[in-house]
Amino acid sequence: MREPSLYDILGVPEDATRDTIWKTYQRQLLQASVPATFDAKDAGNDTALRAQLEAIRRAWAVLGDPDARSSYDIELKADRLRQSAPMDVAVDLDDMAYDEETGVYSYACRCSGEYQLTEDDLEAGADLINCSQCSLRIRVLYQCVDDAAQA
Ligand SMILES: [Zn+2]
Repeated sequence: MREPSLYDILGVPEDATRDTIWKTYQRQLLQASVPATFDAKDAGNDTALRAQLEAIRRAWAVLGDPDARSSYDIELKADRLRQSAPMDVAVDLDDMAYDEETGVYSYACRCSGEYQLTEDDLEAGADLINCSQCSLRIRVLYQCVDDAAQA
């Protein structure tokens, strides 16, 4: 799951020209403002609309400024790169092999390496494990015993 980008908020393609963004921004502002006057008595609705207007204005403040837009684009790209990186594959603890003697859970990596999770790791609440051989890592899914205490 990812946050909507400023482009998503305005509803413009990421390669839209400044002119297109400006026109869309104007239209969005108008659309968001009109119901605001109709439902003025509805405080809850008003707050949501105000937040929407705020988001639209913020999006324009960045995308309408060529410098701000290009640094935002760089940030956006970096964010996506991080999210698409081949890591954090989720593995259920039940699917890991458990060695009763050593108390170590292990899981084979697709390289010849192995992921290892000790009971100490579990107690510490660790859930990200690096492969012993390559740079991949997995996220181990398990029910933390003291979930209730932490919440
Ligand atoms: Zn590996």
